[in-house]
Amino acid sequence: MDKNYNHKDSETKIYTEWENSGVFTPLAGDDVAKTGRKTFTIIMPPPNANDPLHVGHAMFVTIEDIFVRFHRMKGEAVLWLPGTDHAGIETQFVFEKKLTKRGKSRFDFDRETLYQMIWDYVHENSGVAIDQMKRLGASADWSRYKFTLDPEIVKEVKKNFFKLHEEGLVYRSVKLVNYCTKCGTAYSELEVDHEDKEDKLYMIRYGQIVVATTRPETMLGDVAVAVNPEDLRYKHLIGQKVILPLVGREIPIVGDSMVDMEFGTGAVKITPAHDNNDWEVAVRQGWNMDEIVRDHQIIGTNGKMTKNAGKYEGLSVAEAREKVASDLGEALLETKPYLHSVGTCYRCHRAIEPLPMKQFFVKVKTLADKALAALDSGETVILGSGHDKILRHWLTNLRDWNISRQIVWGIRMPVWYKTQNDDYVVSETSPGDGWVQETDTFDTWFSSGQWPVVTLETGKPGDFEAFYPTTVMETAYDILPFWVMRMMMLGIYMTGKSPFKTVYLHGLVRDEQGRKMSKSIGNVINPLELVEKYGADSLRMALVMSTTAGQDSNTGENKVRGMRNFANKIWNAGRYVQDLKTSITQELKAGNNERDDDFRMKIQEVRQELTRLLEENRVGLAAEYVYNEFWHWFCDVQIEENKQGKISDEVLKDGFKSFLVMLHPFVPFVTEAVWKEVYSNQKLLISEKW
Ligand SMILES: [Zn+2]
Repeated sequence: MDKNYNHKDSETKIYTEWENSGVFTPLAGDDVAKTGRKTFTIIMPPPNANDPLHVGHAMFVTIEDIFVRFHRMKGEAVLWLPGTDHAGIETQFVFEKKLTKRGKSRFDFDRETLYQMIWDYVHENSGVAIDQMKRLGASADWSRYKFTLDPEIVKEVKKNFFKLHEEGLVYRSVKLVNYCTKCGTAYSELEVDHEDKEDKLYMIRYGQIVVATTRPETMLGDVAVAVNPEDLRYKHLIGQKVILPLVGREIPIVGDSMVDMEFGTGAVKITPAHDNNDWEVAVRQGWNMDEIVRDHQIIGTNGKMTKNAGKYEGLSVAEAREKVASDLGEALLETKPYLHSVGTCYRCHRAIEPLPMKQFFVKVKTLADKALAALDSGETVILGSGHDKILRHWLTNLRDWNISRQIVWGIRMPVWYKTQNDDYVVSETSPGDGWVQETDTFDTWFSSGQWPVVTLETGKPGDFEAFYPTTVMETAYDILPFWVMRMMMLGIYMTGKSPFKTVYLHGLVRDEQGRKMSKSIGNVINPLELVEKYGADSLRMALVMSTTAGQDSNTGENKVRGMRNFANKIWNAGRYVQDLKTSITQELKAGNNERDDDFRMKIQEVRQELTRLLEENRVGLAAEYVYNEFWHWFCDVQIEENKQGKISDEVLKDGFKSFLVMLHPFVPFVTEAVWKEVYSNQKLLISEKW
C-alpha cells in the first residue's frame, strides 16, 4: 500500500466498480416480493435539474447514502430512487435573468419557443447535478432515475388531477390570489414571505366615521366600512351609509366580528378585491363577488391602477397612494408611523398584491385531515425537534391551494375552454374544434407532491406494491410545508396510505462560526471543490458528524480538512494490518493472548450500539460513535497492545475487518480502497454483510 491515501486516484474508479456491480439496483418489485425480503426505500428529494449542487444537497446525499448503505449491508432490498425537478418558477426565473442579460424578455417569444428554450437550457445542465451526486458517493439506483417532466410522470400527474376534479376536490373560482406583479404570476400562501416594514397609518374621515388604513389608494375600490358589532362606539351606526370621499359613492356600514376594536379607530374600510379579510367579509355579507371584481378591482396584474380607479388609472400603486393621500385634503385627518408585517414575494421580495383571479384550487380540508390522522396514529413520524408541531399547525390552518401558475415552464394544465364562453372541460386532449387550452401550468409542488407515488408507479413491474409506502423521507426542514405536507396530503388521497413511515428533517448547513452561508458574506462552501481537495469521505464525515435531526449544523473547510486525517487514519491502520500478514513470529502467539476475548466482546458491543443508533436514524451520533471507537479505541489502544503481543494478529485483523464494514456507510471510498488492498480476493465491501 502507498504511504498515503490518495482519494484522487481511487474515488472515481471505485464508484464505477460499484455501479457496474449492479449493487445499486434492486430487483423489480415483482421479484423482490417473491424473495420475501424486507424492503427499505428512500425517494430522493429531486434537486433542480439545471443547478449544480450546493452544500445542502451534499448533506442530503450523505445522510441518505449512509441509511441506504447500512440497510443494504443488512441484507434488505434497498431502493434509493433518484430524480431531478423542473422547478417551474425557480427555473423560469433563472432563465429570464439570462434573457435580460441578452436584452430580451420572456414576452419576446411565443409560448412554444420559450418552453423549448428553457427545455434546452435545463437539459444542457442536467447532467451536472447527477455527476456531482455520484462524486459524493450516492449509491442510488440510476436505472430508475426520473425527471418531473418525463412523459410517463406528466401522464400520472394529469390523471390524478382528473381524479381530484371528478371528485370535486379541484374547482375553478374567482378568488384573491397572492400575485407578484414583477414575476407575473400567482403564488400559494406558502410562497409568500413576511417582512416587517415601516409604513404609515392613515386616518381618513368617511362622513360620520373615521377609518384607519395603511393603503389609502385602495379606498377607490371600497364597498363598505366595517365595525365590530360588539363595539359600543359604533354599534348604532351599523346599517347606516356614508359617502366615500374622492369617489362620491354611497357605501354601507356593516358589522363583522373580524374587526379588531383595538386597531386604529376600530372602523375599517372594506376592499374585497384587494384584501383577504375584506374578501371574506364580503362573502359573509352575501354580496355578489363577480360584480365586486368587475366594478371595484382597482389594481391590475401589471401593478397599475385600472380604469375602475377613474382619474388614477395608469398610475403605479405607490404613485396612486401619494396622489390619493394629497387629494383627500381635510378628509385625511392624520398619518402616523406604523410598523407591520407585509407579504412579499419569496423570489423577488416585492410586496405581494392580493388580486382577484379565476384560478384552479385544491380543496384542502379533507386531504389535510387525513394527513393529520396519519400523524396522530403514528403512521408517519416526524424526526426533528418541534417540526411535528409546525406541520400540524400548517395542516390545521391551510387555505385552499391555488395550483395555477402563469408561467410556461411546467406541466400545462389539461383544461380546455370554448373560446366564446367560460365553460371548461378537463381532458388530456382537445374536445374538438373551437376549444383552446389553458395557458397556465401546474404549481411545481402539485407534481412534486405526488413524487413518491408517481415515480414508483412508473417504475419497474411491481415497484409500487413492493416499495410503497417508502421507509424514510429525508429532506431539509425548510420545505416541510411546501413538499412533505403536500406529499402526505396527495399520497394518502391517491393510495390510502401515507407515502413514508419516517420523515427525517435535516437543518441548514451554516459556516464554522454558525452564520448562514451567503454570497454577500462570502462564506459559501462549494461541496465539489472540497471533494476535489480533500476527498468525498472527508466532506461526508464533516457534514454528518454530530448533526441532529431538525437542527442546523456548522461546517467549513477546516472541519473537512480535519476529516481527511480520519481517512488517513483508516488507511494507515490498513497498512499496519496488511503488514501483519507476513509476520510469522506473531502467528505463533495466536490463540493464547490475554486480551483477545475482551477485544472480541468489545467489537460485538460496538456493532450493537452502532446498529441501534442507525436503526433509530440517529445518524450524527452514529458517525461520532464509530469515529471515536475506531480512532481512540482501535487505533490508539488496540494496535499498540498488538505491538506488545497482548492481542493476537488474527483477532486484530478480524476486528479491523469489522470496523471497515461499520465505517463503510460513512466513508465508503477509503474503506473500499483499504478493503481491496487488505482483502484483495474478496467481493466488494459495499456488498459485505453488516
Ligand atoms: Zn416576485
